[in-house]
Amino acid sequence: MATLSISNIRKSYGALDVLHGIDIELEDGGFLVLLGPSGCGKSTLLNIVAGLDDPSAGDVEIGGKSVIELPPKDRNIAMVFQSYALYPTMSVERNIGFGLEMRGVEEGARKTAVQQAADVLQIGHLLDRKPANLSGGQRQRVAMGRALVRDPDLFLFDEPLSNLDAKLRVEMRTEIKRLHERLGTSIVYVTHDQIEAMTLATKVAVMRGGYVQQLADPRTIYERPANIFVASFIGSPS
Ligand code: ADP
Ligand code: MG
Repeated sequence: MATLSISNIRKSYGALDVLHGIDIELEDGGFLVLLGPSGCGKSTLLNIVAGLDDPSAGDVEIGGKSVIELPPKDRNIAMVFQSYALYPTMSVERNIGFGLEMRGVEEGARKTAVQQAADVLQIGHLLDRKPANLSGGQRQRVAMGRALVRDPDLFLFDEPLSNLDAKLRVEMRTEIKRLHERLGTSIVYVTHDQIEAMTLATKVAVMRGGYVQQLADPRTIYERPANIFVASFIGSPS
């Protein structure tokens, strides 16, 4: 079970208050999108969930267990960033399996896990290639494969598509949706793109200036925006 519970998360950098007490609950298997303009605190919140940054106050629970004291590797979370640095000298297979290799998983089990992840992402035929010989979309799939192979309780995505061209962005959006439907793993996904949020999310947190302005399913956000900021940011008709 991997219900995610974010409780009263605050974050300050010196005198700068970036997050003012964030409360979000995500049901097991849900797809939460953190949506808001640049600088509103989306990445800061995601990094705190990942364990890459410490909150000034508050708690994060996964499956009912506080993870706030745990280092990233013990949270069973996998993160996909905007700039997905693949190892250029390694094959796709080794890139995907490298985390397992580091953890001492033996070769047979590693091969099986990598093959499964690659099949899900439809890159099973590319395992012998080097990153330089892949398209942008294929590289993005390899980056997702590295996350998938760890069988995490929770996937975190920070603007994973913003470096891709428009056509590829639509293709990868569909791919991420398919992945979520197939695996049923909970996802937290950061974007400033309203269309991405509305098409992917089961739940959207619209953020502004370190506050959550509205937390609801996409349809409710669209039809009943909580305030003028949400309405204008979403571009809703009301
Ligand atoms: P978003 O991802 O929504 O664009 P961020 O979470 O990256 O926003 O940043 C939120 C605010 O926190 C911004 O004003 C940013 O300048 C500030 N900030 C982020 N990281 C740091 C840091 N390490 N030190 C100081 N300020 C930071
Ligand atoms: Mg960001």
